[in-house]
Amino acid sequence: MHCPICHANDTKVIDSRLMPEGVSVRRRRKCESCDNRFTTYEKIQIQMPAVVKHDGRRESYNREKILCGLKKACQKRPISTEDLDKLMERVERHMLEHYPKEVKTHIIGELTMKELLYLDPVAYTRFASFYWDYNDIEGFVSSLLKNLTASKGVEREQLQQ
Ligand SMILES: [Zn+2]
Repeated sequence: MHCPICHANDTKVIDSRLMPEGVSVRRRRKCESCDNRFTTYEKIQIQMPAVVKHDGRRESYNREKILCGLKKACQKRPISTEDLDKLMERVERHMLEHYPKEVKTHIIGELTMKELLYLDPVAYTRFASFYWDYNDIEGFVSSLLKNLTASKGVEREQLQQ
């Protein structure tokens, strides 16, 4: 990285910080020649895990595909595009952390629905029943029950406080 002031080659990173959205790193750099300090924002190349479908076939991860179902489920609900973008960021961060190489479709569905449940229960039910292609009704019903029970637990905890 060249110094923007004296154009020297030798700059030193003195601080690195991952930005809250998790897609860029803010770096404080110091020029060894002129002692000036400057900041760079560098995009991180993120490799999303491969998506493993029910029949074992793999496909590349496609955020738009999930967002499309989410938007339909959220029609006429008080949820903004920004809310959904943030939701997807949380889901993706979790995927990268826990399933960096490959992730099964039902895991993505569960993560997405869990987030949606906290955002809007009506949209959650719509998404779960119409827009998430489960191909597995048993898994769907059990995760629906599990998530509903979990959310009731949260409400109860909040009431007690
Ligand atoms: Zn310099």
